[in-house]
Parts: sequence; structure tokens; C-alpha cells
Amino acid sequence: MADKNKTAVVIGSGVAGMAAAIRLACMHYDVQVFEKNEYPGGKLSFFEQDGYKFDAGPSLFTQPDLVEELFTLAGKNIADYFSYLRSTETCRYFFANGKRLTANEQPEAFAQDAQTILGEPAENITNYLGRAKDLYQHTGEMFLNNSLHKASTYLGRPLLKALRGARPAYLLQSLDQYNGHAFETTEIRQLFNRYATYNGSNPYAAPGMLSVIPHLEMNEGTYYPMGGMISITNALYKLATDLGVQFHFKSAVQKITVEKGKAIGITVNDTAIPADLVVSNSDVYYVQRNLLGDEQAAAKIIKQERSSSAFIFYWGISKSFPALGLHNIFFTADYQREFENIFRHKTLSDDPTVYINITAKLEEGMAPEGCENWFVMINVPAHTGQDWQADTAVLKQRVVTKLSKVLGEDIGALIQTEAVLDPSLIEARTASYTGSLYGTSSNSRMAAFLRHPNFSSTISNLYFTGGSVHPGGGIPLCLRSAKIVADLVAKQNAI
Ligand SMILES: Cc1cc2nc3c(=O)[nH]c(=O)nc-3n(C[C@H](O)[C@H](O)[C@H](O)COP(=O)(O)OP(=O)(O)OC[C@H]3O[C@@H](n4cnc5c(N)ncnc54)[C@H](O)[C@@H]3O)c2cc1C
Repeated sequence: MADKNKTAVVIGSGVAGMAAAIRLACMHYDVQVFEKNEYPGGKLSFFEQDGYKFDAGPSLFTQPDLVEELFTLAGKNIADYFSYLRSTETCRYFFANGKRLTANEQPEAFAQDAQTILGEPAENITNYLGRAKDLYQHTGEMFLNNSLHKASTYLGRPLLKALRGARPAYLLQSLDQYNGHAFETTEIRQLFNRYATYNGSNPYAAPGMLSVIPHLEMNEGTYYPMGGMISITNALYKLATDLGVQFHFKSAVQKITVEKGKAIGITVNDTAIPADLVVSNSDVYYVQRNLLGDEQAAAKIIKQERSSSAFIFYWGISKSFPALGLHNIFFTADYQREFENIFRHKTLSDDPTVYINITAKLEEGMAPEGCENWFVMINVPAHTGQDWQADTAVLKQRVVTKLSKVLGEDIGALIQTEAVLDPSLIEARTASYTGSLYGTSSNSRMAAFLRHPNFSSTISNLYFTGGSVHPGGGIPLCLRSAKIVADLVAKQNAI
């Protein structure tokens, strides 16, 4: 265990930065978090407009045990900070051919419904989810909970376990090919292809390995944090401050100070802050380029393809739609073309797949009486200089037309209030290079190994956490990256 008076600075208060701060505080570090925004949470933030409440970023909550673990570690009762419930359905799917399927949270019931409504043999789904569970249990421990860049990870049982779980198809086939072999109907193939978007990837390029993702949603379940996703940020922020972590907002870190190959602190607001340990939660590309001045390391990072970004319309809708649930997907007819547009042509699709999240479905007070708070998201390319302002009207027209047709109402006429978030705003607000949601994509077999490590190989006492480094983006993986950092620090201290 570290000495009580060791100091750590954390750059950024995203979910991973806060989780790392909590873990380091539990290891008796004096921790200070420096955040450029005036609020904590990074992408996991919130706003209210005209009586409608909106989670600004993430909307899907899985693996709550990873949040619980932080409270257990700190010896606190999570109920004093945070509560959540398990959803009874995972998502409502609207296919382009008019078919609809509400995915029951029980895998067997979901498989039965898919057989009855879509004609997909139920056993295809139960077998698939069985393999996904197996894959997760065999490979999860090694790939998600450990640094992939330390020899110790590959020694002993975890590697043997991971190899036992490996099937050639997981690496040799794309997710779409893998799903094509597994399923008979185009609808279920499309539904399972969609999981590639959970880390901003392309199912026609990413490996079959990503078939592990539905295990987390369908076997382990989806959850709803009471108060919305912002409750995760609020709970972690409160836990961190209760543990003595000090937060400094409106404090953009300008530089990581390195002396004799060792990180010795940071510069913020032109003031040097010394520290025994520096943990960066900022996008690792910007850290290498701007905070460390290492152009070569930065150039290496951008050789990896970025994940997709998103365009979001936050709409206050003056009506309630019984056909909709908490999570809803309106699929495009040509999914492959949509991903070609996102990753190859870097342009908008004529008929994009649309996701709508409505927390007013589960909780009162999220929208005025009889109204709904729609978070309407479309996957779009990462920001490479597109004119998003000009695209806004085009995209809105396409989305409104699509939804109006499926729901049989003029959606445009029901929008009482509107806000938008585009990839350039995501980049500006959270310093995420190109506004990509999940750092680098998983569009290649080697992606997991090419993602930046959780430590610096050239500078000691410098660690990295968050969506741009191993094991990747999304709240659960960000929380795991914070744990990997804490484990690396503990090992370093034990030497
Ligand atoms: C629209 C959208 C939808 C998403 N949907 C989901 C979902 O449903 N489920 C899910 O699990 N994930 C989802 N994600 C992804 C998820 O939000 C991210 O992977 C996760 O929140 C990233 O957390 P992070 O810790 O990496 O940091 P970030 O949230 O990226 O925060 C980094 C923080 O560092 C700060 N910072 C950066 N540079 C500096 C500096 N120099 N000095 C000081 N501070 C700095 C930034 O201001 C920011 O607050 C979504 C993301 C978006 C944007």
C-alpha cells in the first residue's frame, strides 16, 4: 500500500478519470483532478431545456457491478449514492420492411419472440448467446481486465483460458460474416450486426470477436440508473469528494512535466503542480501531442482508424408514443451502405439508422406531463472537417421524414424544443480527437492490441485511462481501464 502522503494528479473528470481518482484515494494517495470544463463527467453529462431533461451522451447502462465495485472498495453503501433498476426489455426494433420486435430482457423469451415474429429459429439465438457467454468468460479476464502490454498478462492461466475460448471464426470472419453463418433471417443478422456500433465499429470490417458484446446486453441485462445516466457521474463525483479527492474545474492542463524520464507533475493555469503520479483521462492523441509534445507518438496513434462519431438531436416532443420504449432503433434498409458511408466515404446516409432514447418512459419529471424527452442519435463519421452546421437541416429532414412515416405522425410538428450535438462539438467539449465516441475503432483483427497501453513505455509514473486507451470506449470498459491503472500503480509500488 502506498504512503499516505503520496500525491496523484488526474487530468480530466470523465467516468474513467473519476474511477481512477477513487481507486487512488482508496490506496491513500492525495488526489487532485483537473478538469477543463466547469462540470464533471465528460461525455457523461446532462442539461435541461424548457422543462425537458436530457442525458447528453451515453444512454445505455450495462454491467452495473463495475460501478458497485468502487463503492465496495471505498467501504461505502452504494444505496446512499446511487440506485438503478433492471430493464424489462432491452430495445424496441423497427425494421425497414415494417416488422417490429421488442427484445425481451429474458434471452429465451427474446429468442421465442424472434422465432414467432421474424421466423428466426429460437435455437440459433440461444446457441449464439451461449457462445458469446463462453467467449466472454474465457477471454474477458485476460483481454479486458489486464494490460495487454505487460508480459505478466500472458503468463499462466489467463492465456490458457483465453486460448481455450478462441474459435477461428472470431478472428477470421467479420462480425457480419459470423452473424450470416449463425442466423437465417436478415432482420436478426442486422440486429446482431448493430452491436459493432457499441464501440463505434463497422460490422462488415470488425472481427467476429465482437459477437461477445450481445452477451453483456442480452445475458447480463440492461439497467436504468434512477435520475438518468447523469446519476452515474453524480454518484462517482460524490464518492470521490467524500474520499477527499479535490476537483478543480475550468482548469485545462497545459503540460505534463517530465524530468529524467519520470512524470513529476503538470502545469495548469500556468502554475506547476508537482505530483508523484500523473494519470491522464484525456484523449491520448492530444496528450501525446499537446501535453507531452511527442509528435511521433501522436502520429502513431492516428494511424489507427478512429471510431465513428454521432449526431444527436435532443427533442422535447409534445406527445407520448405508446409504441416506443426506453431504447428504440429504426433500422435502415441497407446497413452495409450506411457503414460504407460512415467509414469509407465519411458522409451522411440518405436513410440512416436512428436510435431514440426516452427516459420519460421510466421516470416521471423527465418531461412535462404528456410529453417525452427524445434523445435521437445517428451514427456518423468522425470529424474530418465536415460542415456539420450545414448538415444539420439535411439530417433533421431525413430523420423527421423517416420517423413520421414509421410512427404515422408528423414528428416535426411535435418538436417543442431542440438542441443538437455534432462531432465537432463532441471534440470541442471533451477534447476527443475527431469527436469519435470510443477512441479508435475495432475494425481490424489487431485493433485490441494496437490500442494505446494504460501506461507510458518511455515515461515512468505516467498512466492513461479512458475510452482512447486499452481496453476501449464505453462506460464499462472505461471503468475497467481505471482498475487496470490502479493495479499497475499497486504493482509499481510493490517493486
Ligand atoms: C453521444 C454519445 C453516446 C454514447 N453512448 C454510450 C452508451 O450508451 N453507453 C456507453 O457505455 N458509452 C456510450 N458512449 C461512450 C462513453 O460516453 C465514453 O466511452 C465514456 O464516457 C468516456 O469516458 P472517459 O473517461 O474516456 O472520458 P471523457 O468522457 O471523454 O472525458 C474526458 C474528460 O477529460 C477532460 N479533459 C480533456 N483534456 C483535458 C485537459 N487538457 N485538461 C483538463 N481536462 C481535460 C475533458 O473535458 C473531459 O471532461 C457514448 C458517447 C457519446 C458521446
